[in-house]
Amino acid sequence: LVSRQWKRDPTPVKIGDREIKEGKIFIIAGPCSVETEEQILSTAKVVKEAGGDALRGGAFKPRTSPYTFQGLGERGLVLLAKARDATGLPITTELMDPEDLPLVAKYADAIQVGARNMQNFTLLKKLGRAGKPVLLKRGFGNTIDEWLLAAEYVALHGNGDVVLVERGIRTFDRTLRFTLDVGAIAYAKQQTHLPVIGDPSHPAGDRRYVIPLALAILAAGADGLIVEVHPDPDKAWSDAKQQLTFDQFRELVAKARELARAL
Ligand code: PEP
Ligand code: MN
Repeated sequence: LVSRQWKRDPTPVKIGDREIKEGKIFIIAGPCSVETEEQILSTAKVVKEAGGDALRGGAFKPRTSPYTFQGLGERGLVLLAKARDATGLPITTELMDPEDLPLVAKYADAIQVGARNMQNFTLLKKLGRAGKPVLLKRGFGNTIDEWLLAAEYVALHGNGDVVLVERGIRTFDRTLRFTLDVGAIAYAKQQTHLPVIGDPSHPAGDRRYVIPLALAILAAGADGLIVEVHPDPDKAWSDAKQQLTFDQFRELVAKARELARAL
């Protein structure tokens, strides 16, 4: 169902009142985690003013250590919805537990499946009935074809509105946090009619490398970006090192739009 052999023309995916589609760069941005009302509202305003298309923010966080911040849960979803009301930006957030689907679907305009859940088949099947578009992150230990088959699960179970997200994989080289697989973007764009976007923040692991990786993602043919930005990144409650400052985010949007014109 997700293959170009089945359907040649690119499939646009609606997120709120906006559309991810080929030939236009869609930019999703926001903090790694929703922390406070002030934090998410100020970020949403900057994302909107800089020309972003949607706001991201985690309320249920898949943290490596159980002793670190796990997300605000429903309170985080409520704050995201406030930010949507204030700016008009659609909101995207991660779902981890299939049981939380009704709750997350009540607030979110698009539901993110995190890298660690890419092959949670129970979750993927349930998302087939979610009635909301899905942002499907590639697992950092998964092949491109496993990623496409994960999208196939969601589509087969009733939901064709899937956006594929390359976010870096584990390789022998741990100098950067993950290895951004730009080839996967070029390959996936050939193989599937679904939109493909990239996350430069998690492979970079360090805000100094986020803009170059973002431009590489677009140059490889992606339809957009999902990027982390925070009002005071060094004080962020998760992924502090990699979140962009507001000024860096504005610079990224300007460069991304300029590159898109040249492509
Ligand atoms: C995130 O987007 O904050 C996140 C946890 O991403 P990933 O699932 O790609 O690690
Ligand atoms: Mn993060």
